[in-house]
Amino acid sequence: MTWSTPPTDGPLADARSQLAAAVDHLGYDQGMHQMLATARRELQVSIPLRRDDGSIYVYSGYRVQHNFSRGPAKGGLRFAANVDLNEVRALAMWMTWKCALVDVPYGGAKGGVAIDPRQHSLAELERVTRRYTSEISPIIGPEVDIPAPDIGTDERTMAWMMDTYSALVGHTVPGIVTGKPVALGGSLGRATATSRGVAHIALAALAAHGMHPSRTTAAVQGFGKVGHDAARFLAEAGVTVRAVSDVDGAVYAHEGLDIVRLGAHAKRTGSVAGFEGAEPIDPASVLTLDVDLVVPAAVEGVITGDNAGKVQARIVVEGANGPTTKEADTILNDRGVIVVPDILANAGGVIVSYFEWVQANQAYSWSEREVNDRLEERMTRAWHDVVDYSGVHSLTYRAAATALAIRRVTEAHRLRGLYP
Ligand code: NAD
Repeated sequence: MTWSTPPTDGPLADARSQLAAAVDHLGYDQGMHQMLATARRELQVSIPLRRDDGSIYVYSGYRVQHNFSRGPAKGGLRFAANVDLNEVRALAMWMTWKCALVDVPYGGAKGGVAIDPRQHSLAELERVTRRYTSEISPIIGPEVDIPAPDIGTDERTMAWMMDTYSALVGHTVPGIVTGKPVALGGSLGRATATSRGVAHIALAALAAHGMHPSRTTAAVQGFGKVGHDAARFLAEAGVTVRAVSDVDGAVYAHEGLDIVRLGAHAKRTGSVAGFEGAEPIDPASVLTLDVDLVVPAAVEGVITGDNAGKVQARIVVEGANGPTTKEADTILNDRGVIVVPDILANAGGVIVSYFEWVQANQAYSWSEREVNDRLEERMTRAWHDVVDYSGVHSLTYRAAATALAIRRVTEAHRLRGLYP
């Protein structure tokens, strides 16, 4: 695959087509387009795992560093069975745009291991994490590339990564990852930052389009680190969250779900399925229910050419990365459904990751209030930047956010120049 012949579908095709539209809008030449389309560095590694029963299985892992123009690369680490290089490339590119859009001094990266964490013991996941960290250690570092949690990974994974990297270099390096446990230098407010940002942007979008939270109904797909607290924050703001789904099932309550009780149920059983006081529904229907707001917060490519025509919501706020395919995006836009793009809506995580990195570098911690206030300030600024740009240039929020971000990356690139 070359930069000019991207795959025809999947997240990389979507990411490349968004880039092409922005390059066209910005009037950049082919050289700049190629530069922006191409990752600076890609590493594929093999991760042999000795399973608890003594057998050995080899997994594939990836780390893609898309861009460094604005600073060290930054992006999550995903553990999911279907991870492949093109998915990681797309996610790394979106990280570059996201960091530029919310003006944190980072480029973009992403990592993945093609493993289903639910099929493994904690001890096996620790061995995979440590071996992966060791394999990618030559290309990461607190001034180079800083991983964070994503699908299938969490603060415990980050603690293992930090410990492994620190052991390899011979001293503790808290700034090597973000999303660490608070006891190890993690930031207060990081665990809920992405969800808080999603809810904040959703409420801003409702207000901008004349909708009041107490008269708004919503459905959330995904009940993990992002979806759970996004649903909770929306409910706390007065939104009636009628439906929530995860990989095992979906539940619906017309008068609104009790998200706190649902959270306790999911923690106890591992899924939202079987929650009392709600009716089970087809998980696929969550995106097309009769609600005002839909928040996809699970995986990419879930709103497609097949179901976009059936979306009844007025507003879609992308908690997940890349949940809307290119075809679906066109259908939603044509139907007047407002789509608030991932690189804006879910940027709260990287903003507080940046705060965590700053705190690690200063060896000083901020209060949760300070973190949340600064998060809200940055999300609000980015929201207004996108709305203004979209208004001035008659672009969708996605096209505006992408163009704005790419303009900032390009400006940094031009100021630095090319070496040699
Ligand atoms: P997670 O692993 O904590 O949770 C994922 C959730 O999605 C789980 O509830 C899982 O059951 C559900 N799920 C998986 N496949 C599904 C499917 N096909 N249909 C319905 N539900 C499904 O992951 P997360 O950290 O919450 O990430 C969710 C999304 O948000 C991803 O796209 C991720 O890249 C994005 N994101 C995460 C962060 C972060 O800080 N964690 C930041 C920005 C963006």
